[in-house]
Amino acid sequence: MKPVPGQSPVQDRSLDPEHWDDLRTQGHRMLDDMLDYLQHLRDRPVWQPIPQPVRNHFQEPLPSEPAELPELHQRFMTEILPYAVGNAHPGFMGWVHGGGTAVGMLAEMLAAGLNANLGGRDQIPVEVERQITKWMGELFGFPEQASGLFVTGTSMANFIAVLVARTAALGPAVRQHGVATATRPLTAYASAGAHGCIAQALDISGLGSGALRRIPVNERFQMDLPQLDQAIAADRAAGLQPFMVVGTAGTVDVGAVDDLAGLAALCRRQGLWFHVDGAFGALARMSSELAPRVEGIQQADSIAFDFHKWVQVPYDAGFILVRDETLHRQTFATPAAYLQRETRGVAAGSPWPCDYGPDLSRGFRALKTWFTLKAYGTERLGSIMAQTCALARHLENRIHSHDELELLAPVTLNIVCFRYRSAHPDETNARIVVSLQESGVAVPSTTRIHGALAIRVAIVNHRTRHEDLDRLLAAVLAFGAQETKQ
Ligand SMILES: *Cc1c(COP(=O)(O)O)cnc(C)c1O
Repeated sequence: MKPVPGQSPVQDRSLDPEHWDDLRTQGHRMLDDMLDYLQHLRDRPVWQPIPQPVRNHFQEPLPSEPAELPELHQRFMTEILPYAVGNAHPGFMGWVHGGGTAVGMLAEMLAAGLNANLGGRDQIPVEVERQITKWMGELFGFPEQASGLFVTGTSMANFIAVLVARTAALGPAVRQHGVATATRPLTAYASAGAHGCIAQALDISGLGSGALRRIPVNERFQMDLPQLDQAIAADRAAGLQPFMVVGTAGTVDVGAVDDLAGLAALCRRQGLWFHVDGAFGALARMSSELAPRVEGIQQADSIAFDFHKWVQVPYDAGFILVRDETLHRQTFATPAAYLQRETRGVAAGSPWPCDYGPDLSRGFRALKTWFTLKAYGTERLGSIMAQTCALARHLENRIHSHDELELLAPVTLNIVCFRYRSAHPDETNARIVVSLQESGVAVPSTTRIHGALAIRVAIVNHRTRHEDLDRLLAAVLAFGAQETKQ
């Protein structure tokens, strides 16, 4: 814009609409579309292949000119919404993904409107996050002072746990000097079935993924305790410094839960940090039926979990809970002039969330979680978890009643691994899974159990019912028969 002589070149124009009524009408249309989508999800394919023209349409140059909102909404409806991964759909059982809820969606909208930055400062949004921390402390039987923090997901939560455990082992000075100055290299332990993000957490913490010892599992896919003991002893004998054991509550591949009470006792005996990767399984504490399966978790030093999985909070909502608030804060808090704390005014309310993790600017993940916990209560959420486990047992029973099918791992929680019998089982079952996904009927995934490819059904979505599993099974049998006919 050319400056006009004698007139300020600056115009007071914000990004707010000129015509709020038009925006309001458009906004209501968008909200209605999403409510319709959730109400009628079942009538859609779970997933569908993306047509090339649609993919190409997202290779546009950076827009310099404005576009109309109704037009963008239209593009969302025709080119984005139909081609998502499908985890909101009851037929989605491929990976451990939550289904989300309309309540969570509405809360997200409120949070986005408020646009709160939860790095810190004196504001109720931070109190909402502290409320969730208190609730989680209560749920897991942690002390009053336990600290917690929302993060993207359990991958980040596990990373934070590794760093806090590192501070516990080497003292806060490690933050200046780095791990290279440690006289004895640190080593950590997890089961062979632990999630890949544990090794990655050690990698990005500077300890190296090689510092993770992967302990073999027993026939129930739990970390083998005698072998864990031996590995620790061997590392000590070799001059290394064992510092941390990561137990898993609900492995991704089969849903196994380590002997958490046994691990807690071992860690106490050995003086090691006991962390639990409870990405989805930890919150089984909400279900009176499932809580005994994660017994011992209350003795952990730290627990990582996701509200966006079994508790159905929309993505993303990971969480880290730490027993020792001081160690947690000593791992992350940094003095900075622009983060000066006061006892009054907006800069009051220390310590802040930014003192407990690497993020400074942070969204209001706590709000959709607060709405979800308040709107449903832990009993109802727990009964949804128990329901997914009952559905897994239903599927297990159906598998036993078909000679063409075989179960490949015991069903502990909500994950079922099986396959269609064939002369070339890996190839056959890989093709069955792709055919199923492309059919739009159901989305299972694959994993390997003792080297054999399995069809993996992880039932996490609160919308999944018996009929969805029956449809899945009918399709597996049909595709299997097609694949194996001579
Ligand atoms: C999902 C999952 C993770 C990773 O969590 P994200 O939220 O995807 O980062 C880690 N461990 C286990 C056991 C999981 O199920």
